[in-house]
Amino acid sequence: MITTLSAEALALNPIRFEVSFKEPQAHYAEITMEIDRVKEDYVDVKMPVWAPGSYLVREFSKNVEGFHAKDANGRPLTSRKVSKNTWRVSSKGAGKIMVSYRVYAFEVSVRTSFIDASHAFLSPTGIFMYVDNQINRPAEVKIIPHKSWNKISTGLMEKEGEVNTYFAADFDILFDAPIEVGNQDVFEFTAAGIPHEVAMVSGGNYDKVRLAKDMAKIVESATAIFGENPNKKYVFIVHNYHSGGGGLEHLNSTVLGASRFNYNSESGYKSFLSLVAHEYFHLWNIKRLRPEALGPFNYDQENYTTNLWIGEGFTAYYDNLLVRRAGFHTEDSYLQMLATDVTAVENRPGNQVQPLSESSFDAWIKYYRQDENSLNSIVSYYNKGALIAMMMDLKILHSTKGQKGLDDVMREAYNEFYKKQGKGYSDAAFKDLAEKVAGTSLDDIYHLVNTAGSPDYNKYLQFVGLELVDLNAATKRRI
Ligand SMILES: [Zn+2]
Repeated sequence: MITTLSAEALALNPIRFEVSFKEPQAHYAEITMEIDRVKEDYVDVKMPVWAPGSYLVREFSKNVEGFHAKDANGRPLTSRKVSKNTWRVSSKGAGKIMVSYRVYAFEVSVRTSFIDASHAFLSPTGIFMYVDNQINRPAEVKIIPHKSWNKISTGLMEKEGEVNTYFAADFDILFDAPIEVGNQDVFEFTAAGIPHEVAMVSGGNYDKVRLAKDMAKIVESATAIFGENPNKKYVFIVHNYHSGGGGLEHLNSTVLGASRFNYNSESGYKSFLSLVAHEYFHLWNIKRLRPEALGPFNYDQENYTTNLWIGEGFTAYYDNLLVRRAGFHTEDSYLQMLATDVTAVENRPGNQVQPLSESSFDAWIKYYRQDENSLNSIVSYYNKGALIAMMMDLKILHSTKGQKGLDDVMREAYNEFYKKQGKGYSDAAFKDLAEKVAGTSLDDIYHLVNTAGSPDYNKYLQFVGLELVDLNAATKRRI
C-alpha cells in the first residue's frame, strides 16, 4: 500500500509502542502499538521473519497471539491475516489505529526473545511489528517493567522527560536495538572517548574491574583500525548461562552468550574477550561497512549476499587478532589459533565441495540449517573466511613491502562505502578497493573464495617467514 503522507509528516509522527509484562512467568509480553495519521482504507501491519545478523527465516509471527485493533475511541476495527506475518486492519476512516497483541518468548538465544520471572530479553524483530512501507517512520517504545525488575539496558536513545521511554529515528534502528529488562548487574567504562555499559544477566564469577579494563583495551584496539568510533554510547548485554557462547551484532550494542563460571579460567576468559572483539568489530564491519544486500533490509524474506566471508570471516580473523594486539596472546599462542582454524577447515570434507561465496549465499538454507550431511557439503564462511583474510593481509604486506595491510583495506572501505557513498559494496567494488591498497591483482585470493578446495597456505605464510607443517603427514603416508 502506498502512503499518501509526505516523509516530513511521517517523521513527526512516531509509531508508539508500549511493552508490559503481566505474566512474565508464563513467558509473555503484552504489546500495544499506536499508529496515527492513517489516511488509507486499511493498514498492513507486519512482523519481520528474521533478525539481521542471523541468516535464517525464523517466522517470528508464530509467537504472536491475540491480535486486536481498535480506533482511538476504543471501537473495534476488523482485521484479518493476509499472509503468515501480515495483519490487514480496516481503518473505517479512523485516523488513529490501536493494535494490541501478545508475544510468547521462551527461546534462549542471542537472537530470540526470552521472558521469565527473573528478566525479559526483547529481540526487537520478534517483538515489534511495522507498518508496511513505513519502515522509515520513527518509533517510540515505553517499557513497563514487571514490578520486581529495576533496570533497562538498550542502545536506544532515551526520550527526554519520559520515564523508561526510548526513541528510534526509524524501524531499522528499532530492529537493531535489543532491550534487556530485569535486575542485571551493570557496570560502565569509557574507551575511545565513548561511554560503554555492560549489563551482566544471570550472574557469574566475573571480576568487573578486570573486565572493564580489558574490554576497554579491545575497544581501543578495534577503534585504532578505523580511526573513529561512530557511536555516542555502546551497550554489551551479556547472557550468562551454565554453558553458553555466541553473540549477535547491532549498531551500537551487542548480545553475548557466556558461561557464567568460566571467567576465572585463562582460556575461558580469553575466548570471552575474543567474542567481545568479534561483536565489537562488527559495529564497523557489517553494520556500517556492508555488502549491498545487507541494508536497507527486507524484513519479509531472505536477503542474499555472497560476501559473508568478508562480513563474518574477516571479523573472525580480527577477533583473535585484536585480542593479540591488546596484549592477551603471545605470538606462539596466536599462531596456534590460526593453525586451529586451518585444521578445522581442512578436516571438513565440505571444504572440497562448497566455495566460500556460495556458503555465504546459501547460509539461509545450509549453514543455518545444518544436518547429518553438513560436514560433507558445507564450508564455514567464518573460519575459512578468516584464513582468506589472513592470506589477503599477508599478500598486501608483501606487495607493499610492509607499508600496508588488511587494516588499510578495512579503513579505506569504511571511509569509501559507508562514509562517502553511504551504501553497501558490490563484489567488484570491494575487490577494486582492496587491489588499489595492495597495488596488485588479488585474483588469486578471489579464486580461493569462488572455488572449493584447499588453499596453498604456505604461498602466503612464506612472505613473513612462516611455514604451515602438517603434523599428520607421516600418518597419512602410512595409510
Ligand atoms: Zn559475527
